[in-house]
Amino acid sequence: MSKVVFSNITKRFPGAAGTTAVDKLNLTIEEGTLVTLLGPSGCGKTTTLRMLAGFETPSDGSITIGGRDVTNVPVNARNVGMVFQSYALFPHMTVRENVEYGVRLLSLPKAEMKERVDTMLETMALAQYADRSPSRLSGGQQQRVALARAVVTQPKVLLFDEPLSNLDAQLRERMRDELRAIQLRLGITSLYVTHDQSEAMAISDRVVVMRNGVIEQDDSPLNVYSRPGTGFVAEFMGKANILHGKVEAVDEATVRVRIASTVAFTLARGNRAFKVGQEVRCVVRPEHIRVDAEGTMEAKVRRVVFQGAYVEYLTDLEGQECVFLDTDYYKSGVAEVGQPLKLSIDSRPVWI
Ligand code: ADP
Ligand code: MG
Repeated sequence: MSKVVFSNITKRFPGAAGTTAVDKLNLTIEEGTLVTLLGPSGCGKTTTLRMLAGFETPSDGSITIGGRDVTNVPVNARNVGMVFQSYALFPHMTVRENVEYGVRLLSLPKAEMKERVDTMLETMALAQYADRSPSRLSGGQQQRVALARAVVTQPKVLLFDEPLSNLDAQLRERMRDELRAIQLRLGITSLYVTHDQSEAMAISDRVVVMRNGVIEQDDSPLNVYSRPGTGFVAEFMGKANILHGKVEAVDEATVRVRIASTVAFTLARGNRAFKVGQEVRCVVRPEHIRVDAEGTMEAKVRRVVFQGAYVEYLTDLEGQECVFLDTDYYKSGVAEVGQPLKLSIDSRPVWI
């Protein structure tokens, strides 16, 4: 059992500013799942992770792992593994010795220790580098050594603090998928910290978006992207048009919102209540707008950014900024600044 529960966790740091780094945080990590804390620098991600590891003591609240209260348990008695951005490998030890270091503290019989280390080196595709110094490995391989060293102790919980930030973009994606595959295979309950929203969506069972020490939204990757609870979450999760509109009609199942003289959507309203005349904000992702000669929406091009796979247009829709991506530019050509464009919006993924 290794379910993690943070109950009303607060962390204040002393000092003139009296920073409240984390404010009454409630968070559950179900056994075997990977939960990501996502948010801008300084929002309290690392502090939250360090409290679970035992490096920081909460000012208030409690933390349990597998039902056991660990709030005041020292680091070495919590059975958590950590992987950092900087790898933190020992440069004077070989890869094997680095991995062994993790288990040595467990004082296992020698044969069992060797067996565990060998298996781990195999699992992480590091067997052939076992006798090298980590400094002779690539960044991705070094991070795999760090992961092996953390996992070999069979921790109840695995903690990651921006583990991929030092890698270049391509390798970061590969390592991200590798990390997730290993976490799923071993079924280790994990808390992962990043400020990169696409990494968070790709790797997590749940994404917890934080801002100023509080949770803005705790939801599935799909929902934080497509059903953001706040404007902050909508914009943090990726490019978003936040278009102001007015409710025109409401019935049992739907709500009709107008965002421009020629553009209105009828959307499912779920169990949310709306009033006719109410001002609302609609999240429209750029990929749901397209150039369409038959489109009812007309916007004026303000800026054109060529990106290879697509052209990004910043346009003016009756005074509202509207960004979208055109992947079909090879058909009709790239529009110019000042040109009016006929567009249509796929209303199904629009979120109020
Ligand atoms: P993140 O990891 O999201 O970037 P942190 O958890 O590191 O954010 O920091 C959250 C807030 O707590 C920041 O305002 C930071 O300056 C403050 N903070 C973090 N650690 C300390 C510390 N040891 N002493 C004082 N303030 C700290
Ligand atoms: Mg941090």
